Amino acid sequence: MTAKLPTQIEVRGGRVHNLKNIDVNIPLHKFVAISGLSGSGKSSLAMGILYEEGSRRYLDALSTYMRRRIKQGNQANVISVKHIPSALALRQRPTIPSERATVGTMSETFNILRLIFSRLGSPVCPNGHRLKPSLEIAEAMAKSGEEMGQLTCPVCGVKFYAPSAEQFAFNSDGACEECGGTGKVRQLDDSKLIADPRLSIKDGAVASWSLPGRNFMPNVAEHAGVRIDIPYKDLTDKEKDFVLNGPEKKYKMDFLSGTGRVFHNFNALYENAHQAVLRSAKTSKSERAQKRISEFFSYQICPVCHGSRLKPELLKQLVGSLNINEVAEMPLGDLIAWKDQVFKSLPVDMQKMANALFTEFVDNLQPLLDLGLDYLTMARNGNTLSTGELQRIQLARTLRTETTGVLYILDEPSIGLHPANVDGLIKVLHKLVAQGNSLVVVDHNVDIIKAADEIIEIGPGSGEQGGEILDQGSVDQIKKTSNL
Ligand SMILES: [Zn+2]
Ligand SMILES: [Zn+2]
Repeated sequence: MTAKLPTQIEVRGGRVHNLKNIDVNIPLHKFVAISGLSGSGKSSLAMGILYEEGSRRYLDALSTYMRRRIKQGNQANVISVKHIPSALALRQRPTIPSERATVGTMSETFNILRLIFSRLGSPVCPNGHRLKPSLEIAEAMAKSGEEMGQLTCPVCGVKFYAPSAEQFAFNSDGACEECGGTGKVRQLDDSKLIADPRLSIKDGAVASWSLPGRNFMPNVAEHAGVRIDIPYKDLTDKEKDFVLNGPEKKYKMDFLSGTGRVFHNFNALYENAHQAVLRSAKTSKSERAQKRISEFFSYQICPVCHGSRLKPELLKQLVGSLNINEVAEMPLGDLIAWKDQVFKSLPVDMQKMANALFTEFVDNLQPLLDLGLDYLTMARNGNTLSTGELQRIQLARTLRTETTGVLYILDEPSIGLHPANVDGLIKVLHKLVAQGNSLVVVDHNVDIIKAADEIIEIGPGSGEQGGEILDQGSVDQIKKTSNL
């Protein structure tokens, strides 16, 4: 006889924060909403007990090596929690993505777009002849090793390699060499090096000389003949040029340190205002120092790739009439129409392959559209997104990974969501459960709460006045006792 599978998580004696020694059963494989006033104890139950205990379960399943690298959760203040699956939380404040993350890479839509460009694209031979998309090209791209992507130009007969999906990746092979795949270049900004020209050098006119280890630079400049006690703006062009661009040179000189010590015949190496930053950038290890250094630069669109992050030759490859960057710059909401148009333009014998790629593409795109992110572009930098946008991209991606048996805990997923997109969010939440997961959502949005299979109401007030389970049941059951 097989043991009966658990159908609910059993929490006994929960006392995290303001929770009043609560006992509660949370159904598994259901969409459960926890409702209540702000500060009633909703998050204490969801994050403080379910997430703490479930994430520990998750960590226990990882190797010891991985465990050491992840900050361990604290044991929750609860007597027991039974039958809790591994839990993952989608937090209110996701970590800020790096410069290299875009909507396309974070959602993985760009990965599929790269495949589409390599398989369905129209490459150009080194002599400038454009090849029409064909099954032959697609098949060449699917080969491995030396043969991968090798084509013969039907016009001039030259053998060449068309770009692979991997080569379209700006975080590896495809990175523009000028900007390293960030789409931006940084330049030292003189207006930041000399932040206030009304100051004298002695009073700190040269901001980069305040970087660690450069406090004696004004003395060296003075030794070299620059007046350091008049406003910087009143210096001669020659003096200013020495400050900004003067040659690196050792000067033998006496000087008084900041702590009052006198150094005789000190061999002082002169670093001009630019070098002071560039040298520091090379030698400083700490993130804080690097951040301070980065403030002396201004950022411009990369002149080589024009912000596309990719090697310019990759932009010759077209799908339909657009290059990969032009597609990445389109609003996500326009991409379905784009792929329909491309599909129609392909030879009949390519349609089966195209269909498979585009189905994958749309599967990836649809949750983003359902969550109201149609106005974003794949090229959009991750670190310019709002918290709500990041959280929804994370949610869409979660759906794509098709995990099952996980307890997802969502803290305020409707934050920043346009009311028109609440239905889309609910659709995504139901999909997560349909994939075999359990879902606990903390939210204030009435439509989201009503869409849940089960509601747990915590209250009655907030803080000390809250922390009790007031009611639990389906929407219809709860309706009788509350104002939903
Ligand atoms: Zn050719
Ligand atoms: Zn570039």
